[in-house]
Amino acid sequence: MNTSTINPGATIGILGGGQLGKMTLQAAHRLGYHTAVLAEAGDTPAMEMATHRLTYAWDDPTGIRRLTDVCDVITTEWENVPLRLIKSLERRSAVVRPGSKVLEVAQSRLAEKLLADQLGIPTTRKLRVPVSGFDFSIDLTSYLPGILKTDRLGYDGKGQYRVETVDELIAAHQKAGVDCVLEKRVDLKYELSVLVARTADGRIKVSDAVENYHKEGILDRTIWPSSVSRKLIDAAQSYAGRVAAHLSLVGVLCLEFFVDGDDNLLFNEMAPRPHNSFHGSIEASYTCQFEQHIRAICGLPLGEVRFHTRFEMRNLIGGYFEDDWSAALVDPQSRLHIYGKQEPRPGRKMGHWTSLHR
Ligand code: ADP
Ligand code: MG
Repeated sequence: MNTSTINPGATIGILGGGQLGKMTLQAAHRLGYHTAVLAEAGDTPAMEMATHRLTYAWDDPTGIRRLTDVCDVITTEWENVPLRLIKSLERRSAVVRPGSKVLEVAQSRLAEKLLADQLGIPTTRKLRVPVSGFDFSIDLTSYLPGILKTDRLGYDGKGQYRVETVDELIAAHQKAGVDCVLEKRVDLKYELSVLVARTADGRIKVSDAVENYHKEGILDRTIWPSSVSRKLIDAAQSYAGRVAAHLSLVGVLCLEFFVDGDDNLLFNEMAPRPHNSFHGSIEASYTCQFEQHIRAICGLPLGEVRFHTRFEMRNLIGGYFEDDWSAALVDPQSRLHIYGKQEPRPGRKMGHWTSLHR
């Protein structure tokens, strides 16, 4: 693998046009990089910040050619960019970080959980429920009450069905109509996440854990410090390092965990990119997650990831966004971020604010 440093002045390409891309671009520009965004047409707040704006369908060869012509390194802000595209970029010898090996795992919940099993990381009890040929007459009691989740393309609680009985499971499975994973429902005491960064030459830094609270499957707020015990946080950090090393990750990767009523730490899912639960790092950490991602993919020294100030991050979600954002402006300890999306559809992430010293 190429481990040479990509210095400021070079051009970083991002696949995907959402808010994570936008904030990554802000960090890239601050460090003196030029940027390109390739995204399909739509509400793409990252596009307006990019040096090169490439609006093409993922499978349009012109977009791919223009991207590889200008970029020294290409990354993603969305793990569900078609694998075919990533592989075709790799075949053209583009430097893609993270690469197809990482994205292949991160596009499937089941693959993520099987990887955790392989690496000795405890996960929720889970069962593969393929789109056809599954025998619902087997004993499923140890998975119920459960959550049926689509194996691919789920986010913000989308593609999830809470089921109490086998009949409800069958109905949910029919409705989903794709390969799924059935998970035993966990009695959640805490949800936490950690962020690991790794460079191509194998340097690794893992953040402290943050504590997450969800509403209707969508992250609502994140706080630091977490009140989860040091022992569990140390374990989560060591698991993150293990996954990053195993996957030869280049970039940042967020791992989400549950803590159940018996204080078991259980891996839930991962995302190989900056993550909503680490937006507080923009104000409260020595190095924010977006800059850390740029540092990692460019082979620069990784930054100090410690938080220096306690904080609470709140998401601004379409539906009640309009009431909340002006409140954030009048709180002297708060920093407001609005992503600039055109339409505040219910459940859509429109912005966030971070309150320091909370
Ligand atoms: P995504 O974030 O991709 O939508 P998650 O698997 O993280 O999917 O689920 C979203 C939220 O739903 C979690 O953060 C958690 O609050 C809840 N949840 C998911 N799986 C379980 C489970 N097995 N037991 C209890 N709650 C769960
Ligand atoms: Mg999640």
